[in-house]
Amino acid sequence: MMSQTMPQTVTRLTLGRSVFSVNAYLITTDLGFVLVDTGTRGQRSKLAESLRTQGCGPGSLKLVLITHGDFDHIGSAAHLRSEFRAPIAMHEGDAQMATNGDMFSGRRRPNRLVRAVLSLVSRLPEADRFEPDVLLDEGSDLAEYGLAGARVLLLGGHSAGSIALLLADGSLLCGDVLENRKAPKLGSIMDDVGTAEAGVRRLKTMDVGMVYPGHGKPFEFADLLVPDLTVSTAP
Ligand SMILES: [Zn+2]
Repeated sequence: MMSQTMPQTVTRLTLGRSVFSVNAYLITTDLGFVLVDTGTRGQRSKLAESLRTQGCGPGSLKLVLITHGDFDHIGSAAHLRSEFRAPIAMHEGDAQMATNGDMFSGRRRPNRLVRAVLSLVSRLPEADRFEPDVLLDEGSDLAEYGLAGARVLLLGGHSAGSIALLLADGSLLCGDVLENRKAPKLGSIMDDVGTAEAGVRRLKTMDVGMVYPGHGKPFEFADLLVPDLTVSTAP
């Protein structure tokens, strides 16, 4: 019998509580693990404990993939890189958020209220800022990290560099472009709603199954609530 490659399985690591709750996801591959997002700096010990429980440590963690540059997703990326010696991958569009610690850099239309409130608490301390090792873009090949058959999709919308990872089995890790805090829907904080909606229309043309959002529970893509979106017909 031909040897089969191991399926890539996704484990949700829930960090923080209530409104501060954020997900990181650990993908098991035949080469080891890929971590998608890292929570906030304050959720670091919980993340470390979750990784230990899953048997993920230095050597077996092949990549830290960041869906977007917000502080609640990149808080432990630099720490993991130094502890686990794993490279950090993200899209160039959000790289400035990681290098200067300001989640509003690169955003087109920051909401003033959100900005006023979050600027006080969300600035990434210098020790946690980083330059990504790998710049991802639409179509980047991640086979060398164990993600054969996976696709990187540049969705934007939530931020200029918001990406999603579509695994070969249809699992979609989408960061904050989609969420499921109370219901599966478009993310509630959007920099560019039109771009986000275009991203969802594009996803509808693909074989997306389970969606693993940055916030809230995983859900079936078919259950996504997007009442105003119509799929554009091809010319
Ligand atoms: Zn978030």
